[in-house]
Amino acid sequence: MVRVAEEWFAVCGGCEVSILDIGEPLLDLLPSLEFVHMPVLMDHKLFGQTGEKKHMEIPEADVGIVTGSIRNQENKELAEEMRRKCKIIISLGSCANFGGIPALGNMYNNAEIFDMAYRKTASTEAGDNPSQGLPALTDRVYSVNEVIKVDVSIPGCPPTPEWIAGALTSLLQGKSFSLPEKSVCDDCPTVREKKAKVAIRRPLQPAEFTPGRYDNMRCMNEQGILCLGPATRTGCGGSEKTPRCIKAYMPCRGCYGPIRAGANPMVDMMGALSSVGLDPKQIEDRMATFNRFIGAGRLRPMPAR
Ligand code: SF4
Ligand code: SF4
Ligand code: SF4
Repeated sequence: MVRVAEEWFAVCGGCEVSILDIGEPLLDLLPSLEFVHMPVLMDHKLFGQTGEKKHMEIPEADVGIVTGSIRNQENKELAEEMRRKCKIIISLGSCANFGGIPALGNMYNNAEIFDMAYRKTASTEAGDNPSQGLPALTDRVYSVNEVIKVDVSIPGCPPTPEWIAGALTSLLQGKSFSLPEKSVCDDCPTVREKKAKVAIRRPLQPAEFTPGRYDNMRCMNEQGILCLGPATRTGCGGSEKTPRCIKAYMPCRGCYGPIRAGANPMVDMMGALSSVGLDPKQIEDRMATFNRFIGAGRLRPMPAR
């Protein structure tokens, strides 16, 4: 029996839904797994069932699954406790692996974020920063692997359930688990003519397509609809291959992160757009757009505005 602990940090909960979305294959895996800690499913208290302990404690486990980015001191201490108690750590989802959407906050310092949240938003009655009973924010948003050693990374926002099942099955069988080093474009069935027919259009403009068909739909970028497929790791389509957003006639937003470690999606995207005759300078917020899911360690506070 493999003991599994799961913890979430700065998350939306979608990665946990993806675990449950494994569906029937989860029934095959469950007899071999014993979940010893998973806040989203079970009432296991961090400070003991009656609050008697002084420090947060997680039971020992063979596999620890962590989701979410590190946004405050409690997230950081929990990540360190997971590392102490679990033999193998799986970081699940783009928040855990690259900072995800929360790391867009790295374009601002904490004082600016508090100002916007508690004083400058039009619908907010101005007040002081909350100070009691809350963990302090870290200086910026971190990915989990910036804080603790990670053994297996599964990106995606959320990760496809097939990948989660694949990683757990590989671990149970003592095999290694690796990710494809190909781009979303490599699995995309759309038609490419290597030349854009219009300039980049406003976000959320609908693509031209025939319902039920992907193979006669023109590439989104060539339709002037910004698609981050060229600089994003493939895999979201699972065994069917066709990327998840393309199946919904929508462009890729880059949620699986860079194709390989060390890649720079911003540079890759500038090259991909230029190669079909599009001008990347048309995209006003290039830093945020090209680093939307991967801002930990990449995005920095902008100069004073
Ligand atoms: S990776 Fe996406 S689905 Fe998972 S916690 Fe972050 S925002 Fe939610
Ligand atoms: S840019 Fe987007 S639409 Fe075009 S081939 Fe790549 S993934 Fe498909
Ligand atoms: S197409 Fe892109 S944004 Fe959509 S799920 Fe796949 S990797 Fe994520």
